[in-house]
Amino acid sequence: MKPASVLREMFHNLGAKPATILYPTEKVPVPEGFRGRIAILDEKCIGCSKCAIVCPTQCITMVPSERPIEVKGKTIVRKKKPEVHLFACIRCGLCEEYCPTDPKAIYLTTDFAGSGTDKDLVVR
Ligand code: SF4
Ligand code: SF4
Repeated sequence: MKPASVLREMFHNLGAKPATILYPTEKVPVPEGFRGRIAILDEKCIGCSKCAIVCPTQCITMVPSERPIEVKGKTIVRKKKPEVHLFACIRCGLCEEYCPTDPKAIYLTTDFAGSGTDKDLVVR
């Protein structure tokens, strides 16, 4: 590269916007339908185990978790709740598709990062 073109490039870039973003403070927008990290709304979960049954990687374990829930106007005791091993999840979305609650108790978010400093957000 000739010195003149280097200088031209340098002056051009002095006034230009940065080409990168300050990730993770800034996030890039994700397209509609993006399959990100799985999340669970425990207060909506009825403990039916459908998510664990359909999961192709078997990364959902039903763990003991008793609490009263309302199903079709009746109060019953939920015995279990799902726990997802996030690094084995392939984000296929089958658990969300088969979850019978509305809104879905298990669903894909738009979060794409697989790492973090909060253990509760990485291993659920
Ligand atoms: S998105 Fe797919 S792989 Fe991940 S927990 Fe749900 S069913 Fe399993
Ligand atoms: S399918 Fe939905 S309601 Fe049933 S155990 Fe899984 S998260 Fe809970």
